[in-house]
Amino acid sequence: MSTGSPAHTRILLKLSGEALLGPDRDFGIDETVIRNYAQEIKRAVDLGAELAIVIGGGNIFRGVQNAMKGMTRAHADYMGMLATMINGMALQDALEQVGLQTRLQSSIKMEEIAEPFIRRRAIRHLEKGRVVIFGSGTGNPYFTTDTAAALRGLEIDAEMILKGTRVNGVFTADPEEDDSAERFVEIHGDEMIRRNLQVMDMTALTLCRESSMPLRIFDMGVKSNLTRIVQGEDIGTRVHWNEEADAPYVTAAL
Ligand code: UDP
Repeated sequence: MSTGSPAHTRILLKLSGEALLGPDRDFGIDETVIRNYAQEIKRAVDLGAELAIVIGGGNIFRGVQNAMKGMTRAHADYMGMLATMINGMALQDALEQVGLQTRLQSSIKMEEIAEPFIRRRAIRHLEKGRVVIFGSGTGNPYFTTDTAAALRGLEIDAEMILKGTRVNGVFTADPEEDDSAERFVEIHGDEMIRRNLQVMDMTALTLCRESSMPLRIFDMGVKSNLTRIVQGEDIGTRVHWNEEADAPYVTAAL
């Protein structure tokens, strides 16, 4: 059901696992957060956007990290990828409860619960208005779900990658500690790398850089932010790769 044409059509949305913790938890999934996400995603799809989602696993993975001390890195990383599948399944259920059609694709074979990742199939689902959730990250240890988001975003030919976090974009300093902090309204990706702003890991940024994939970092916890972005509004921080830009960045007061 489309209620007008969106400014952005195919979007890869990266949701961090940690955002699913909500305000009170150290571990697991906050019901209200995931329900709100589902409603917001529904509104974006109703506007006509094609949405693919990569979800992280930090909310589960970091909760068992103590038990993983001393574990081989690759082994622990596979556990992290399984954590993203738990979140992916929870999100899939929440999306279906608000009436969306979904498919969960996994980079690690789990035939009973998810389709394997098949690029052409994922694109076809999106064209049919289904929300596609990509679980298990890239399927490889030593990577992150940010990198999975960049990779899958490029593969499905997304118009941009949206990274939904708990803060409204990228700042010059920690806004909770520094009154003079400003938000970057837009910033060249190279400038972000030069400043070592820890917004996305370097592997993910390098992938985006090579294909000039635009990114936007925004607060997914604020109702209607996602739909406003889909409609073309300038929310959060836009990361671009435009060599012709007048300035490496533009800021705004908090
Ligand atoms: N992970 C991995 N390969 C991937 C994606 C994820 O090994 O392609 C593992 C890695 O250990 C990571 C964990 O899964 O720390 C959870 O993902 P991430 O930390 O990116 O989740 P987020 O911080 O977004 O919740």
